[in-house]
Amino acid sequence: MTGAGRFAPSPSGDLHIGNIRSGLLAYVRARQTGRRFLWRIEDLDRVQPGAAQSQLEVFAELGVSPDEPPLVQSERLDMYTEALSRLEGQGLVYECYCSRKDIQQAPTAPHSPPGAYPGTCRDLSESERERHRQRLDEQGRSPALRLKTDNAEVTVQDRLLGEITSPVDDLVLKRGDGVFAYNLIVIVDDGASGVDEVVRGDDLATSAPRQAHLAHLLGLPQPSWLHVPLVVNSAGRRLAKRDGAVTYQQLCAQGWTLEDVYAWMCSSLGFAGSTGSWSSLDDMVAGVDFDRLRTGETVFVPPMGADG
Ligand code: GLU
Repeated sequence: MTGAGRFAPSPSGDLHIGNIRSGLLAYVRARQTGRRFLWRIEDLDRVQPGAAQSQLEVFAELGVSPDEPPLVQSERLDMYTEALSRLEGQGLVYECYCSRKDIQQAPTAPHSPPGAYPGTCRDLSESERERHRQRLDEQGRSPALRLKTDNAEVTVQDRLLGEITSPVDDLVLKRGDGVFAYNLIVIVDDGASGVDEVVRGDDLATSAPRQAHLAHLLGLPQPSWLHVPLVVNSAGRRLAKRDGAVTYQQLCAQGWTLEDVYAWMCSSLGFAGSTGSWSSLDDMVAGVDFDRLRTGETVFVPPMGADG
């Protein structure tokens, strides 16, 4: 098989039905296009002990196993360090001493896009940097590392959403607490694993231009993107634990079966009318037509059981 797709959940807790739908779509797409299906454990941040294993077990129950052992980000720090030094070698990395509040309060630089890093630490002299380092050191903080950009807009193509255009500002590459930033490590990992198509929730669609820019700078191939719609609660907000029975485990406790999960996947993606209902993973692999996927959000109303 050439090429790969992947699912890369953060092990911060149990996956809800919306995360599960995105992961299943990534799997379906890989099967339909003859790609390997990979799994990545994004455990540099927000880790709940046991969650990574339990996420894999839920997918195994749903019939999905990755084609290779999962990649674990916390075991790959050398790769990220190396990518960072490549950017440093190009003169594209600088220390940033700003707190979140400093950034909010800084005047926006002329011509910079709204919400962009205002460039406060970009052109400091060495003596100013030394002064800031000492100040941070006294507060027990360390500088973050940022990428030098020209705030230009970058456009990528999404198979479902069409063009995604977003300005790429001086994004963080490594946070002040020493954690490598999401945009950097995602593109390093996708490149190293041969992921050539990324299927994930469309809350991450605006990150794709940043990742494309980093791929370009690092000489990595740019994957293609397919961002799938999110599942929201009845107030239109991103589904969350507090909304009730939303995880696979909770839904099973309310009496859902595997068949119910796949029937819901079918109707929520807009295929119930055309393909009949699905009751298994094979039905879903056969039934999803990415050219006809509903692009709007799906509202999920959790079932009300005895403890609901
Ligand atoms: N770990 C990210 C999340 O759970 C997904 C990263 C990605 O798919 O690029 O939201």
